Amino acid sequence: MKQSIEDIQVDNKRILMRVDFNVPIHDGEITDDRRIKMALPSIKSVINRGGNLTLLSHLGRPSGNGYEEQFSLKPVAKRLSELIGQEVVCSDEDVTSPIILRENVRFNKGEKSGDETFAKLLASDADIYCNDAFGTAHRNHASMVAVPALMEGKPRVAGLLLAKELQYLDQTISNAERPFVAVLGGAKVSDKMGAIDNLLGKVDTILIGGAMAYTFLVAAGTEVGSSLVERDRVEEAKEMLSAAQKSTTELFLPTDHVCVKQIVQGTPVQVVTGAIPNGWMGVDIGLETVAKYTHLLKLAKTIVWNGPMGVFEIEPFDVGTRQVAEQIASATENNAVSIVGGGDSAAAVSIFGLDGKMSHISTGGGASLQMLEGKGFLSVILLDDAV
Ligand code: ADP
Ligand code: MG
Repeated sequence: MKQSIEDIQVDNKRILMRVDFNVPIHDGEITDDRRIKMALPSIKSVINRGGNLTLLSHLGRPSGNGYEEQFSLKPVAKRLSELIGQEVVCSDEDVTSPIILRENVRFNKGEKSGDETFAKLLASDADIYCNDAFGTAHRNHASMVAVPALMEGKPRVAGLLLAKELQYLDQTISNAERPFVAVLGGAKVSDKMGAIDNLLGKVDTILIGGAMAYTFLVAAGTEVGSSLVERDRVEEAKEMLSAAQKSTTELFLPTDHVCVKQIVQGTPVQVVTGAIPNGWMGVDIGLETVAKYTHLLKLAKTIVWNGPMGVFEIEPFDVGTRQVAEQIASATENNAVSIVGGGDSAAAVSIFGLDGKMSHISTGGGASLQMLEGKGFLSVILLDDAV
């Protein structure tokens, strides 16, 4: 357990807080302010107790050669001050204001390279460091790693959002109540191989869906037509399947598929059990697979889900993902703990209107996947342990 911002005294101190304000902005307008709202608990915790804040964030992908208007955090400062009813100064100058939002840290090349000189500049007047940017936790950037490394001896704590992510993705998973079921899907098997490897022997069941299933099916000797396959990963998939057989984890592949000739709405569909004919590709798990997976999910006490079961963006290829999502929601209602990771999976949950029905929806796609791979983060290791 890491020490949280709530555990320490902040009055009259300046807290350097790394947040994730990487929000979509079009023509200077924020189109989705959820990331700003999610940082409010940590921000309010500091200002309500008389602390001063210097906020750090990145936004988009500027070149790293200085200020670029389209990546400026000024619209974020404006929105944040509306949300907290207090002035937020967006500036890199030496200003003395209770709440400062520094400009996009990625305007400086030193951010991404983890540069110590840039970190010194950021840390110069800070008494306390707080990391509340889970989405960037797996990146060893200056504001994430070099800054807390420099601030050794001063309090370095987790923000409330980061603490919640760690609670679910670390503590809940390592003390999971059983049966513990992992549902893995999505586009690429290469993205999820590390997670499968780590989860073998830890979870009771792995349910595979999405495009990544087809690389496994090829490895298992099944014809998959023109479904998406990563040929250079077939050998690895074979090894993974035999490792699964020797482990205590039962791994399931889809047995039937919703197939099309091309991925467009309104195209003719056939449901295929077993081998997929030439020219056809699987775009969703079939009803038999849905029935099997939802049955196993019904029994689960802990569920992690990363990656949709099909091309959920296009109807009717959303059915498998929807059924699985609904079953996870209903298991959660019956006291299972459910953790959703991955940007597209979180988007699917939102489209299905199930946001409030999962125990935890992770805000970090890459970071949550790295947690499932069993790897820690330098940015988190550097924070103080709770006493
Ligand atoms: P997440 O962001 O949740 O980790 P991924 O990015 O790995 O998920 O994968 C999501 C994408 O995978 C979606 O855009 C979805 O359309 C695609 N996908 C899922 N199943 C298939 C399939 N059978 N064929 C092609 N694409 C698929
Ligand atoms: Mg994705």
